[in-house]
Amino acid sequence: MKLELLDFTLEALQDWCIENGEKPYRAKQIFKWIYQKRVESFFDMSDISKQSQEKLDQTFKISSLQKHLVQVSADKTQKFLFKTKDGHYIETVLMFQDYGLSICVTSQIGCNMGCQFCASGLLKKKRNLDVSEIVDQILQVQKEIDGRISNIVVMGIGEPFDNYENVMNFVSIVNNDNGLGIGARRITISTCGIAPMIRRFADEQSQVNLAISLHASNDKLRSEIMPINQAYPIDELMDALRYYLDKNNRRLTFEYILLKDVNDSKEHALELVKLIKGMNAYINLIPYNPVSEHGFQSSDIKTSLAFYDTLMKNKIQCTLRKEQGQDIDAACGQLRAKQLERTHI
Ligand code: SF4
Repeated sequence: MKLELLDFTLEALQDWCIENGEKPYRAKQIFKWIYQKRVESFFDMSDISKQSQEKLDQTFKISSLQKHLVQVSADKTQKFLFKTKDGHYIETVLMFQDYGLSICVTSQIGCNMGCQFCASGLLKKKRNLDVSEIVDQILQVQKEIDGRISNIVVMGIGEPFDNYENVMNFVSIVNNDNGLGIGARRITISTCGIAPMIRRFADEQSQVNLAISLHASNDKLRSEIMPINQAYPIDELMDALRYYLDKNNRRLTFEYILLKDVNDSKEHALELVKLIKGMNAYINLIPYNPVSEHGFQSSDIKTSLAFYDTLMKNKIQCTLRKEQGQDIDAACGQLRAKQLERTHI
């Protein structure tokens, strides 16, 4: 069976070249052809000898995903559904931001974290995505739109720190100057709060941004809506985050979905202030995209603004995000869930 080329970091491809009688610089040539010149066949790599082209072609596959469906919303947000080689569906979202094209990639097929408000939590984890399957989401979207992605968030289906090695190898490929050359500060990994993995990530001292899906300001509520809190309660999570901040001179982002009558009162906002005050952190307040199975509602605009005002008055940096792509099943996992209903997989 052929190897997936997109699974290889530059270092791993250099090792492969050395072990297989190719000069190590061959790896950089291949990276540039694939990630920068966007060729899809080894036979188009004109600075590589015919003999090496044939060897590479016999050894590697270049593309790993198949495009299945694209939905475009009124605000131009695009949602892609890709099919993996073993027949699973994964989602990728492309957003047109003021600062460029931003993509939200999926890291697992399904998710075991069970967050109550999330469509992906309805579909248990089947497996981790391979590096090639995460990388190919970007290559396929770039090809589809004939554009260049400038920002990446690993915030689609799955918990990235539950697929740590593959996600970090993905980051290495997209960040490499010979790869996609996307700056580390333009990449964000979002976790629901696996404290030991936050410490491990802190030790990497990477420039990649870290975002925490917090969504509740006390243990009782957080454990109800995010089961991960039973394993790593807020105190333990905050300790891990302080460890991260000590080791990295970076600002943290907290994601907080505003759920009507659940976590959006003034008391919740004040609890949040207490938790975060003094940290080099910033809160993203996110309107909820309702998932019909869960029964949660999005907070109304007046309540959302009052929540935002309480944070701002207490000198907590925050933004209230506008909804994007609500008309295209934009809550993570929704499109995939609908596809599964149709195909009964
Ligand atoms: S919010 Fe993220 S971590 Fe939680 S169930 Fe959904 S995909 Fe998993």
